[in-house]
Amino acid sequence: MSLRKLPYGANYLDREEMKHLDDALKEKILFRYTTERRSSGDILEEMVSSKFRTDYVLATLNCTQGLRLALLSTQPKVGDKVYMPAMTFIATAGAILSNGLIPVLVDVDENFTIDISQIPKDAERAIVCHMDGHIGNVPEHVPFVIEDVAQSIGGRFEDGMYAGTKGSIGVYSFQHAKILTSGQGGIVVTDDKELYSRFRSYHDHGSNRQHGEYPTWDHESFFGENMIANEAQTSIQIQQLDHLQEISAGLERGYAVFEEVISDTSRFRVLTRNSGDQKLSLRLQFEDKSTRDRVLEAVKAKGLPFWNYDRYFLPDHPVLKEKNSIYADNFPWSLVEDPEELWGDTDFSETKARIESTLCLSVSPEQSVDQQYEEAKKFRAALDLVL
Ligand SMILES: *Cc1c(COP(=O)(O)O)cnc(C)c1O
Repeated sequence: MSLRKLPYGANYLDREEMKHLDDALKEKILFRYTTERRSSGDILEEMVSSKFRTDYVLATLNCTQGLRLALLSTQPKVGDKVYMPAMTFIATAGAILSNGLIPVLVDVDENFTIDISQIPKDAERAIVCHMDGHIGNVPEHVPFVIEDVAQSIGGRFEDGMYAGTKGSIGVYSFQHAKILTSGQGGIVVTDDKELYSRFRSYHDHGSNRQHGEYPTWDHESFFGENMIANEAQTSIQIQQLDHLQEISAGLERGYAVFEEVISDTSRFRVLTRNSGDQKLSLRLQFEDKSTRDRVLEAVKAKGLPFWNYDRYFLPDHPVLKEKNSIYADNFPWSLVEDPEELWGDTDFSETKARIESTLCLSVSPEQSVDQQYEEAKKFRAALDLVL
């Protein structure tokens, strides 16, 4: 099988290395709280805690559910606002809305992460999304900040802290299209014991379960759901995390090659990346959308791997534009006096123009340096053809 041309952990899925999965199957117990051996869920959580230097870790179904858990653990009131970037995957907004909260879109900065200067002084909650491997800023004036690290696991801030550990809570994804994968999967991290105990409890029917026992509740228990990760999923995540460093290094190496071969400030701008970014792509910004689109077609014609952020522009997303709900009374939009006024009178046109003039050339971490040079030169040729 040929390698997928994207930096997906899927390329590293190797049964030979999945000792924990073997152990789970040998024991024939895939439910984390009834294993006789040490559960893969526990092993994974400990691994993440020491790798990313964070106190409390919880494995859950996926990042979307992780975001819901994170928000709920801050004990919001129904209808409370949550500030979030105008450019991200719709899951971030879905997590807010499904909790009965209201997403308020905020413009992104020139690196496509939330412009923290535009989050109001009295904001109580915000979600920042580290998009496409770029680690953005975390607002210090907001009491509860959740970092959506779905696209950037392993990235670091300039001070060396891992993405996900600077805000109140961080959430990672192991969905197929991310840096690491177990098909589906999510991990929630925090240094705050109270937040942790709330989201752990909510994810297991509001209980306080001890390993090997039936769940228990007391007079202070709240209702919950079942968002417990299974042993197969967490076993595979352990194997994937073992490759994170290697993937980051491969991206770093490939990115340096791309920067060297593809640099031309007169015809386009290469968006700079921070040293701690996961360097998934070289991001080129062109004069306008039509120039970008011509390059995009040339890159596509050569069969080279690329992507853009067009689909992440949320003000145009039907779910946020139409503000429909599955509830008959249109909850939670029904709680907002004038939903049309939610994000003020901005139409996010600047953000949109910036998104639509940007093209991301995919770096493949599993390629050798020679292959990365070859790939970069092909990109270069596609650019030369058009511009
Ligand atoms: C993929 C993604 C999610 C959702 O992750 P799942 O694990 O698929 O639920 C959330 N936010 C962003 C920015 C994503 O890219």
